[in-house]
Amino acid sequence: MNVSAYAANGPHEKLTPFSYELGAVGAEQVDVNVINCGICHSDLSMINNDWGMTAYPIVPGHEIIGEVVAAGNAVKNVKVGDKVGVGWFSGSCMSCHECMDGAHHLCSSAELTIGGRHGGFADHVRCHWSWAIPLPEGINLDKAGPLLCGGITVFNPIIIAGVKATDKVGVIGIGGLGHLALKFLNKWGCEVIAFSSNPDKKKSIMEMGATQVVDSRNPEELAKIAGSLSFILNTTNVTLDWNSYLAALAPRGKFHNVGAVLEPMAIPAFSLITGEKSVAGSPLGSPALTRTMLEFCLRHDIYPITEEFPMSQVNEALQHLESGKARFRIVLKN
Ligand code: NAP
Ligand code: ZN
Repeated sequence: MNVSAYAANGPHEKLTPFSYELGAVGAEQVDVNVINCGICHSDLSMINNDWGMTAYPIVPGHEIIGEVVAAGNAVKNVKVGDKVGVGWFSGSCMSCHECMDGAHHLCSSAELTIGGRHGGFADHVRCHWSWAIPLPEGINLDKAGPLLCGGITVFNPIIIAGVKATDKVGVIGIGGLGHLALKFLNKWGCEVIAFSSNPDKKKSIMEMGATQVVDSRNPEELAKIAGSLSFILNTTNVTLDWNSYLAALAPRGKFHNVGAVLEPMAIPAFSLITGEKSVAGSPLGSPALTRTMLEFCLRHDIYPITEEFPMSQVNEALQHLESGKARFRIVLKN
């Protein structure tokens, strides 16, 4: 099959039309016809080689909604004609300790949808059947794409940290990931404080269920809520005053990081020791938890707030995200 896609040939370069051949589908693989694909900040970071791991040409796109159009003869769980979602991972070994434990997202040889292979800014994408997540009947296909990366990335920490309905929690950075975190934590039952650097977002943030918006870059504002939060989720990739956030945690509070902060994060030992606090991180979540999250979204009508661009305007869409103007997640439509 010949795949039509958009690729960047080097850091900070515009994407241009690019086609490549997909050989015969492997026994355990499926080919997916891409209906739409969200744009995650990680796509930008990969295009720009921020993490030093980009293989060019890169076809970004890892928040994919599509239909299975071909399936190898050993494929389980999905079949031709099924609507599926594909996220950051496109394969895992299925035999290591983590895969056997149901934590396929922690497989040390997991294949990345846009790492050394081609992603969803295209008409087709290929993946292992385990990472073609069956979509629950009735889910809104126009808006579900961002749940496959942004959504599961912020849902998994709520499970890992054991967040309770009675907890008072915080989310730093109200972009693609952060606004989904707000919505999840609100439906979880929590009181949610949003930490944002952009006062223009305040009205939307309150409508999403936050009880308070605090300037994420103002240590004096942070000092007013010292000792109050049992869980803080960071979705920004910039250096903030981490010590003020650790001080905002209540005793036994957990700071969970999913933002790909480019510089080492300075964490003074005593801000953890006093109050038995902890710092953690995580990459997306397992296929099973992704499916559970999709069902939770369907039950509570949780979707990202999206802006749509045609796939052919991918460069305008990337520029819109890079300039901080996206509200709150962009979806490219084929
Ligand atoms: P995004 O839509 O661009 O949102 C990031 C938010 O961070 C912005 O909306 C902004 O929120 C805040 N921010 C940006 N620059 C800032 C600055 N200079 N000072 C303070 N706040 C700033 O990005 P995203 O798609 O949500 O992704 C967020 C991060 O998560 C990225 O680093 C991405 O690579 C990473 N990520 C990680 C995983 C994982 O598995 N761990 C998965 C997906 C993405 P305000 O306007 O509210 O301040
Ligand atoms: Zn992503």
